[in-house]
Amino acid sequence: MASYYHDESYIYHNGNLVKAKDARIDLYSQTMHYGMGVFEGIRSYRQQDGSTAIFKATEHFERLRQSAAALHLPYHWTDEELIAATYQVLKRNDLQDAYIRPLLYAPSNMSFQPNSCSNIAIMAWEMQPFLGNQLLRVHISDIQRPNPQAFQMHAKAVGHYVNSIMASQQAKSRGYDEALLLDNSGHIAEGPGANFFLQIAGKLVTPAAGNILPGITRATVLELCEALDIQTEVRPISPAEIAGAESAFFCGTAAEIVGIASIDQHSFSMPWAQTPGARLQQAYKALVQGAPIYQLNEQSEIAETK
Ligand code: PMP
Repeated sequence: MASYYHDESYIYHNGNLVKAKDARIDLYSQTMHYGMGVFEGIRSYRQQDGSTAIFKATEHFERLRQSAAALHLPYHWTDEELIAATYQVLKRNDLQDAYIRPLLYAPSNMSFQPNSCSNIAIMAWEMQPFLGNQLLRVHISDIQRPNPQAFQMHAKAVGHYVNSIMASQQAKSRGYDEALLLDNSGHIAEGPGANFFLQIAGKLVTPAAGNILPGITRATVLELCEALDIQTEVRPISPAEIAGAESAFFCGTAAEIVGIASIDQHSFSMPWAQTPGARLQQAYKALVQGAPIYQLNEQSEIAETK
């Protein structure tokens, strides 16, 4: 198991920096029993000039606010306050390249009454790309993403990850690296913790919002495609389209951009290094380290001719 903290690690907890090993949560919290909590997954990166920057900090804390609203969890923090707290956590733990996990959890509440307050913790640790650096062998799960009429799919809610973990564990138990989940209409939705892009006839296609967590990395990839003149399409994707596709990748804050070697029996024939996904992977790396987006086209062309 990864080591998330040690005796000298600090977290932000309800307004204070406290040692991770001394922080206490309430076992009667509604989040522990029923999954009524929301969280974020954010990364900070050491910049080319040596400073530390949280990538798309405002977008992440805005999503935390929207997730809390979707679950009717009280939210009384400003983005500025939580971003400042996150930088404090990074500094106190001497972290630059870090994965940051804000968690909003409910107070003790065994009833189904609305919560009158909530708690926040912000943790950070070093974490390699969540799905590794190798091309992935992916399995279409027979566990579907939740019905959007039953869950608030745009919210990053604690309870939703029961579905993600079940699908991921099932794929691994069958000898694959990761799962790809369909939505309840049978279209491709997303990975357990990352969004999905498929290259069809040179174009990058990704499922529309509605049945997925519309990721901040997915939005960044779409922005990068604009800058790099890569054509995109946002529309429902049928699993049958995989057979005619050239390449695919997952993207997410924790996973960053990671190529897919195969989905079930279909192996992608285009070498990963020649795919738009590989170009985006390089551009994304440069962007999170502070390169201005308008320079990326130039940079990726230089990289390609090396
Ligand atoms: N889908 C799911 C289910 C996820 O857990 C994540 C990770 N937060 C993503 C997509 C990607 O979202 P983001 O790019 O905002 O990290």
